[in-house]
Order: sequence, then structure tokens, then C-alpha cells
Amino acid sequence: MKKLQMVDLIGQYQGIKKQVDESINQILNSATFINGPEVHSFQKELENYLQVKHVIPCANGTDALQIAMMGLGLQPGDEVITADFTFAATVEVIALLRLTPVLVDVEPDSFNIDPNAIEKAITSKTKAIVPVHLFGQCANMEAIMSIAAKHDLFVIEDNAQAIGANYTYKNGKKKKAGTIGHVASTSFFPSKNLGCYGDGGAIFTDDDELAHTIRGIVNHGMYTRYHHDVVGVNSRLDTIQAAVLSAKLPHLDAYCSRRREAARKYMNAFRGHDLIVLPKTGIACSGFCEDCDCHVFHQFTIRIMNDKRDGLATHLAENNIPFGIYYPIPLHKQKAYADPRYRESDFPVTNALINEVISLPMHTELEDDQISFITDTVIQFLKN
Ligand SMILES: *Cc1c(COP(=O)(O)O)cnc(C)c1O
Repeated sequence: MKKLQMVDLIGQYQGIKKQVDESINQILNSATFINGPEVHSFQKELENYLQVKHVIPCANGTDALQIAMMGLGLQPGDEVITADFTFAATVEVIALLRLTPVLVDVEPDSFNIDPNAIEKAITSKTKAIVPVHLFGQCANMEAIMSIAAKHDLFVIEDNAQAIGANYTYKNGKKKKAGTIGHVASTSFFPSKNLGCYGDGGAIFTDDDELAHTIRGIVNHGMYTRYHHDVVGVNSRLDTIQAAVLSAKLPHLDAYCSRRREAARKYMNAFRGHDLIVLPKTGIACSGFCEDCDCHVFHQFTIRIMNDKRDGLATHLAENNIPFGIYYPIPLHKQKAYADPRYRESDFPVTNALINEVISLPMHTELEDDQISFITDTVIQFLKN
């Protein structure tokens, strides 16, 4: 059996090595490291893949979120509602811009922000909602967009973990994750589903005016050279990273299928186990649709019941099986984001999930014998 890894980027590189090496070499020989033609072509390719009018590449997924919020003109004191159970980047940029983060609970089966909790948290100061499409599956966007319309709020999708996923509306219509809200951000961090070989990110929107504003913000607030109309930032996608992404984008659907296939094998092995809660897919589709395209399994995260998660984690480590605990501490309990307004009774789901979740190895190169070894080891431990 090959050595187990949480993510196998070297194995994935072998399949695209020729094209990646050639395009990087060409950039080395032309020295077009910043704003080379590869950045523009990747932008067009991604617009075409997502069927979105505007992709604005930038330096990383955290910047993408910040720039989206700046582009919408959010002002200090505006309240922005987001999930308590996510990576800190989301709440960090809200706080950095002196907006007021309002953390709310998530749903136990999808791990995504709970539309009912959003509704309860809305005040006269609320200006935006940031659903995070956690672990590779969209939040309940149909409900979120209708809440937003009712209260005149912006929706910023944090799509760092779900690029390539489809969202299926109740009427069967499909849209790509990140093209449903007013604006979306994504990350090309190497281990993300579409990762480059360094840092990278992008903002997506169908709104021409917002896209124009954002293109200036990423470039020091310049719309005409050396005229700074708004306060901007310097956030660019390197040419080399754009070339890597262009080489990988044509494989994204196949990469997502490989992840789904691995998830299906995990689920077949675990289905019916009374101590394992499987991730629920197809939130908006009819029923349990593990073979549909609504989940791209950035992580394969299960819940281990009866307080057995930590014991399992130790057992996996002893057997050299890598795992992740995403996330071990709810954001409302982080020192940087604690706020006396929060009550523990507001977060029953997140407070339970942090003790139950465990993410197993998930990548495009997982082999059957590796998956069987992992599932056998998990099931063996839970017998005791
Ligand atoms: C990775 C990630 C980010 C940040 O992306 P970077 O490119 O690392 O800045 C933001 N939000 C979520 C949910 C993420 O998973």
C-alpha cells in the first residue's frame, strides 16, 4: 500500500507534469511574472467554466473575501452574519474592515450555516451574509437568497472549499457554487480542490459595476494609471500560478469525480454504523444523492458519536493514518472573536460538532486498498 497522506499533491502533479513544466519554463524565459498573458487567459477559462461574467484573480482566498466586502462598500459598524463553524479567515476580514461579525450556528447534517439562525440574527444594522460552502457542498443558497432579498442584504459566498460543486435548486436548475450570491470568493491554496503551487485566489460576480470597482481595488484603487480613486490593496495572482491553474482547470471535473468516488467508498463501508454519522449530501436535491455533483468533498468529514472521537484520533495516529479535526474550536470561543453578545445556547450544533468531527484522507490519488485500510481501522476501533 502507498503511504497514506491527507492530500497527495505530488501524485497529482505527475499527471500534469509536462504541461505545467512547459508553461512555467516559458514564463521563466519571458520573465512576465506579474500580469503575464496567462493571468488573463486563466481568468477567461474560469469565467467560462463557472458560467459567470467576471472572475477577478487576486493573491489568496482571504484577500478575495476582504476585497469583495470592500467592493460592496460595507462600512464600519455594518453587521455581517457568518457561520460559527468555519476557518477563521471569514470572520477575520470582517473584523479587519471594522465591520461587526455576527456568528451563527450551523446545521448538523451539512455543517453549513443554518438559514433559521441567520434570520434570527438579523438587525437593522445587518448588511451582508457570508455563507461558507464548507467541506465542498453549498449552503442552502435558495433559503439564504430569499432571506437576503427580504431584508435587502448582500450575499458573499465563501467558495474556498467548493469550487466545481453544483448547486441544485428545488426546480432542478443547477448553478456552480460561487455564482449564486451577489459576489463570491475562492482560494487556490495548494490543498484546495483547484489549487496552485503557492498562494492564489479569485472573486466572482455577474455584476458589471461591482466587477469594475473590484478590479480597481485589487490594483491600489487605480482605474486610470496613477489616479487613486478609492483606497485599494495590492492583491495579484502571479503569472506562474495562473499557468498552473490553467493546466489544472480542464481536470477539475475529473478531480471532483475522483473525490466523490473515494467518498462513496468511505460511505459504503460506514453506512449503517451506529457510531458514525455520514455527511449528508444533496441538501437541495431529492434525498441522498451521493452520486450527484452537489458535493466535491474538499474534506470527507464524519461525526463519531459517544465521545469516541478523540480515542479514534489517537488510534488513527498510532496506525499512521493522517486525519484532521476541522474545526476544533468554534469561532465564538476564539479569543480574537469572543463577544459578550454570544450565549452558548446560540450554538448547540457547533458546540457538539467540535467534539465529534474527524476528517479522513481525501484527495484525487486515493487508492482502494488505502481506503479499505482506513475504514477497517476505524470500524475495528469502534468495536471496543
Ligand atoms: C482556505 C480558506 C480560506 C482562505 O484562503 P487562503 O487562500 O488561504 O487565504 C477562506 N475561507 C475558507 C472557508 C477556507 O477554507
